[in-house]
Amino acid sequence: MSMTPGLEHYVAVRMTERWGGTADVRVPGGNCWHCGTAIAYCVEIQSSVTGERHEIGTTCAEKLGLDIAQIKQRMAEKRAAERWHATRRQRHEAASAAPIEQPHGTVRRFLAGCYCLPCIDVALTAKSNEYAVATKSVIIDLATGQPARATIVDTRYGQSWRIDDGTWLTAHPRPKRRSTHAAKGYVEAEVPCLIRYGWRPVRGEPARYTETMLCPLASPLHDVWGTPIRRPVEHPSGS
Ligand SMILES: [Zn+2]
Ligand SMILES: [Zn+2]
Ligand SMILES: [Zn+2]
Repeated sequence: MSMTPGLEHYVAVRMTERWGGTADVRVPGGNCWHCGTAIAYCVEIQSSVTGERHEIGTTCAEKLGLDIAQIKQRMAEKRAAERWHATRRQRHEAASAAPIEQPHGTVRRFLAGCYCLPCIDVALTAKSNEYAVATKSVIIDLATGQPARATIVDTRYGQSWRIDDGTWLTAHPRPKRRSTHAAKGYVEAEVPCLIRYGWRPVRGEPARYTETMLCPLASPLHDVWGTPIRRPVEHPSGS
């Protein structure tokens, strides 16, 4: 596509959102340099000859043949990262508001770290784009009955679990005997888990879509060899 005479030296550099009005009624806060229309999503263009910069609307940018797909993608990632930060902020706020405890079965209590079933129910309903239940392979620490932080790593001999404390377990081919894993204090389990999904900002790189396993949702938990996993519980004295 050819550009309007005089604009052929311009390239799209980035996109900015400009809003005016009030918190309740937002109106576009920018103006398209090319056609004069009020715009909220502004494409900043720069002349490769003179270096001057202007802002134009996305419609004009596309009509002018500027490649803004990448910029749009980056903007979507930026917005997703902002949402991720907002949720994390909410979580921290909820956690620090602990003295005045929120009742179970509320998003705030869930975000404060409660994974009881009423709290999980409400999170799955109210934040269905962020939380889901899916079957996952996890490594359970036999000492605590809790999942360990572990990742699957490709090795020369197949795939292995690398646990955060430095322990390695064979993942694939899976050992025939449970004791091969259990002797190291861990077992593999394939269980429904509560998962959090989201774009996670990575410094200096494009945001990455990640899923975080929050907790297994099965009772009792069985390992992949069919053995139930004990959940050692420490009850505070008197309970
Ligand atoms: Zn325009
Ligand atoms: Zn709860
Ligand atoms: Zn109990």
